[in-house]
Amino acid sequence: MKFLNYEHSPAYPLNPWQITEESFPSKNNKLGETIFALGNGYIGIRGSFEEGLNRNTSRSIDGIYLNGFYESVPIPHAERGYGYAQNTQTMLNVTDSKIIELYLEEERFNVESGTLLHYKRTLDMKEGCQTREMVWKSSQGREVQITIKRLVPFLHRHLIAFQYQVKPLNFSGKITICSSLNGDVDNHTHEEYDPRFSASLGDLCLSVSSIKSKDTRAVMVQETKRSKLTLACAMENHLLDVKTRTVDTEQSKKTVSTRFQFNAMEKKEVTMVKYVSYYTSRDYPAKDLSDLAEQLLIKAKMIGFKALLDEQRQYCERYWDTVGVSIDGDPAAEQGLRFNLFHLLQGAGCSGQTGIAAKGLTSEGYDGHYFWDTEIYMLPFFTSARPEEARKLLEFRYSILEHARRRARELSHEKGALYPWRTIAGEEGSSYYPASTAQYHINAAIAYAICSYIEMTGDFSFMVDYGAEIIFETARLWEDLGTYVPRKGNRFCFNEVTGPDEYTALVNNNCYTNLMAQWHLRFAYETAKLLEQSYPEEYRSLSEKIQLKEEELQAWRLGAEYMYIPYDETMQIHPQDDGFLDKEVWDFAATPTSNYPLLLYYHPLVIYRFQVCKQPDIILAHYLLGDRFTLEQKRRDYDYYEPITTHDSSLSPAIFSIVSSELGYYDDAYCFFSISARLDLDDIMKATHYGAHMANMAGSWQCLVNGFAGMRIKTGELSFNPYLPQNLQGYRFRIFFKECWLEILVKDNCITYKLLKGEDICFLHRGEKITLSNGESIDYKLPDLNL
Ligand code: BGC
Repeated sequence: MKFLNYEHSPAYPLNPWQITEESFPSKNNKLGETIFALGNGYIGIRGSFEEGLNRNTSRSIDGIYLNGFYESVPIPHAERGYGYAQNTQTMLNVTDSKIIELYLEEERFNVESGTLLHYKRTLDMKEGCQTREMVWKSSQGREVQITIKRLVPFLHRHLIAFQYQVKPLNFSGKITICSSLNGDVDNHTHEEYDPRFSASLGDLCLSVSSIKSKDTRAVMVQETKRSKLTLACAMENHLLDVKTRTVDTEQSKKTVSTRFQFNAMEKKEVTMVKYVSYYTSRDYPAKDLSDLAEQLLIKAKMIGFKALLDEQRQYCERYWDTVGVSIDGDPAAEQGLRFNLFHLLQGAGCSGQTGIAAKGLTSEGYDGHYFWDTEIYMLPFFTSARPEEARKLLEFRYSILEHARRRARELSHEKGALYPWRTIAGEEGSSYYPASTAQYHINAAIAYAICSYIEMTGDFSFMVDYGAEIIFETARLWEDLGTYVPRKGNRFCFNEVTGPDEYTALVNNNCYTNLMAQWHLRFAYETAKLLEQSYPEEYRSLSEKIQLKEEELQAWRLGAEYMYIPYDETMQIHPQDDGFLDKEVWDFAATPTSNYPLLLYYHPLVIYRFQVCKQPDIILAHYLLGDRFTLEQKRRDYDYYEPITTHDSSLSPAIFSIVSSELGYYDDAYCFFSISARLDLDDIMKATHYGAHMANMAGSWQCLVNGFAGMRIKTGELSFNPYLPQNLQGYRFRIFFKECWLEILVKDNCITYKLLKGEDICFLHRGEKITLSNGESIDYKLPDLNL
């Protein structure tokens, strides 16, 4: 952990439900834009200001995104290779609808001009909205109080609402409020080289095909060039509290504005509400989009801002009640964890046609791509806390199965499916195959997530309708990829693959991959046998559809049985792959701290030649396939790999925390947890301005649930092995298991399990079987960590 700055201090005042910024972050505005981003799984809006900045240049990554709305951008390979990904899909920065400008007489309000006498921005996680309160003095001495509330409602996925309030403090006079839609938008290409940001769109930004306006309402229709998608964005502006005002509409080729002018009275507040809607041809026929967008505005105006706010508060209350997370004794960790859970709620696609991008909807970082992050890091949270959403996220994977089949053929696999490492609509979007397409383990991640979802929810219908087809098709790929190698005792091996640790690529027998593939092949075999027996009709029709043969099932069984698992008898550890231990250990002592993350300072080949890990590899297998190893074995592997892991990936700290908890390395467990809980809030990776790290956000919840409380699920059996970290007085969370809702409360070195809903539940507490009926609870003393 020497590579992580764990002595970070909280960047925002510690409040359990709010993130507050008390001065305009002029130096790190982009970071604030991520922290204060709002979203509802469909729309995401960064915390950029309605009025813009003085010079809207490199200090802002101003953006609004729609989950799943993308342009297909050609990948410029100077040297092409067969089967290289040809296009990447880039989540587009769409119509800028947040623009609201304010003029006092002719003076334009802007936080960087005049004098900002007061500034406070609050993200309220209970209310689900953002408020910016300011007192501003113009250069000519006019003082005004401005309060802006922004809302992206969870109950109206296509809507954003702004409430803009202005109160002149020392004058009466002419005020102009100008609200616009701007179709002249582009993605922000990063000035310096950084693979974690997005690809350049070139001339592929959205074009404006039509603008229609009437009174206080306007609709703009925009189109993409290559992905052939259409988008309608509409606004309705509603000025309240003013009897006499003039309204004008101004229109140019790419913008449309509604301009209100009125005489304001000193100390009298005026409110404007702006409703914005977005619809795209990914969900509806292009010809209907404008009408849909306008209809939603009419509906929103009828509901009104206040009622929208109330609905949002109730939605958030239910959410927090469901997850029930609290931490007693570490307010920073509690705030961080809640912030993380709030962003997960904001980022998750719930249509069955979209996933969760690595940065959620907080930025265009990583081009808005979905990775394995969803299945291994985020789904455990959704499966336990929001099972319906978990199902939708898995349905998304089913919706792109055909693409995965095509990708497998491009890679010369005669059968099966290979899921893309990075994608939005199903095509592989990564140009660098050693750290993408070669990560075949994504197939196992998806199968693993399906298995966990079914074990946790009992929703076997998902298996019958979607899951089995994915599991069989992805298992087929292992069979096709693997080979029995005589020099390895005729064991089943995988050559030229990349494991999760991206500081090592294209290796033979990545230990994690082989272990996960072994699990996957076995699971596929068992699932097929179970379906054959219990759902014979469905099994027959699926087998016919995908031409599945009994010989294949036998091949899966054998592949699993004869899987080669690298092990070094002398060192008594698992080598990360066949060649890993032959490499020199990276010279950490000679590497200045300023050279981390290594990926920004060394050519990949340099990094690949050394023993140095970006993130957990075999350590992740210890967590996911815990039963495969003894505790001693896990300790030996951990002791070897942790010191050579830089944690340059945000996917690292949470897994190390969970495994440390199991190993009894309690200090490590807590340090990694505190990093994970506040990774974005305290900008620990110095990359949060590119967007929040969603995998880590969910990972921090796993540190609590699977780490401190030691929750696992094995062949349908739920178990806990809890402890109370010495830094804490207690913690609490709630989970769904099958039809039951269970609360786990740790306090005063005692754990209470309470069945909040459901008939009865069986689980294990430190190996002891417990059954609880509705409303019942049971207490246990926790182990003394000093013994
Ligand atoms: C990690 C990958 C991860 C990706 C997106 C990379 O830095 O190495 O494992 O999938 O980020 O979060």
